[in-house]
Amino acid sequence: MKFGTKAIHAGQEPDPTNGAIMTPIYQTSTYVQESPGNHKGYAYARGKNPTREALQQCIAALENAKHCLCFSSGMGAIDAVAKLLNPGDEVIATDDLYGGTYRMFTKVFARFGIKFHFVNMQEAHNIKNYINNNTKLLWVETPTNPTCRIIDIKACASIAQEHGLLLAVDNTFASPFLQNPLDMGAHIVMHSVTKYLSGHSDVIMGALCVNDDKLFDDLAFIHNSCGAVPGPQDSFLVLRGLKTLHIRMERHCFNGRKVAEFLRNHPKVDKVYWPGFTDMPNYEIGASQMRDFGGMMSFTLKQDSKEAAFKLASNCKVFSLAESLGGVESLIGHPASMTHASIPKEEREKSGVTDSLLRLSVGIEDIDDLLLDLAQAIDA
Ligand SMILES: *Cc1c(COP(=O)(O)O)cnc(C)c1O
Repeated sequence: MKFGTKAIHAGQEPDPTNGAIMTPIYQTSTYVQESPGNHKGYAYARGKNPTREALQQCIAALENAKHCLCFSSGMGAIDAVAKLLNPGDEVIATDDLYGGTYRMFTKVFARFGIKFHFVNMQEAHNIKNYINNNTKLLWVETPTNPTCRIIDIKACASIAQEHGLLLAVDNTFASPFLQNPLDMGAHIVMHSVTKYLSGHSDVIMGALCVNDDKLFDDLAFIHNSCGAVPGPQDSFLVLRGLKTLHIRMERHCFNGRKVAEFLRNHPKVDKVYWPGFTDMPNYEIGASQMRDFGGMMSFTLKQDSKEAAFKLASNCKVFSLAESLGGVESLIGHPASMTHASIPKEEREKSGVTDSLLRLSVGIEDIDDLLLDLAQAIDA
């Protein structure tokens, strides 16, 4: 089956009792057993819920994965991956990382004796300088957040293979419509389902996709033991959102290109970070591992101050000033004071997150309104 068909049908059969075409919201915590241990595969809803099962199968199908587990948030999913590790283990992670991931690694798991290296992976061979006998996991984000750097997933996979490491890719920015890291040799794909997969800014959820059965068993054990599972209502909302993922992504990509080109030609704009520009570093790699370039971008102003950026952001009327991304509505954010506020200034400036940097999540509104809005906000 092709992507759009899987987005609508994978994991979802008409309800056997009455033919309902939409997967029911199984709002139950437990299931009646015939005799102790004799049940229909469902014993307690932390372990298994039919609405969640349908969703997990659908996301797995979209990532060409054998297995998927959904979590109560993207951070819950990352937490489960980190819990595969033991004290003394080391992780090599992208330096231009989602702020919450950086915070969890440095403020939570570092306390449990896990060591993290944050490395510029634009040149994948840089990773090798940090590998030693304790290295267990490569944590990669591509395109990165917010400066849209491209990291070569296949090159990371071959380094992981050579050194016996796990490769996990946070695929939130690309979504499975644009990029399937498992097909390129990654072992784990992570999503903040909150973003493109859900797509309507009404759910917090995470997911992990894997092919390996043993890895799946280990993660499923953590999932059930630690308990960061999503509820059936949210699972239903995401199943519903997924049905239009392919259509939404096409429009995100179309609008994204128009907005990126508009900004690049604007005299008051300095740099524009969008992976679809042919002169971006690693453009060729991005073009080969992604099907299109999406609607995430960031830009800086020639008047490089926090005040100028704040003014622009608050002048926008169609773009809403908010954290998050990937919903149908366009958002503008100021990473240095919002999503990346937990990263020290020196650290974030190294990866381009300067004071005037603004991030856009270009939504699927009419492109003319988006361009008019940015034009008036920049000139106001
Ligand atoms: C939002 C986000 C997360 C965290 O996901 P939550 O659903 O907010 O917990 C992780 N990685 C990236 C790239 C994100 O954008």
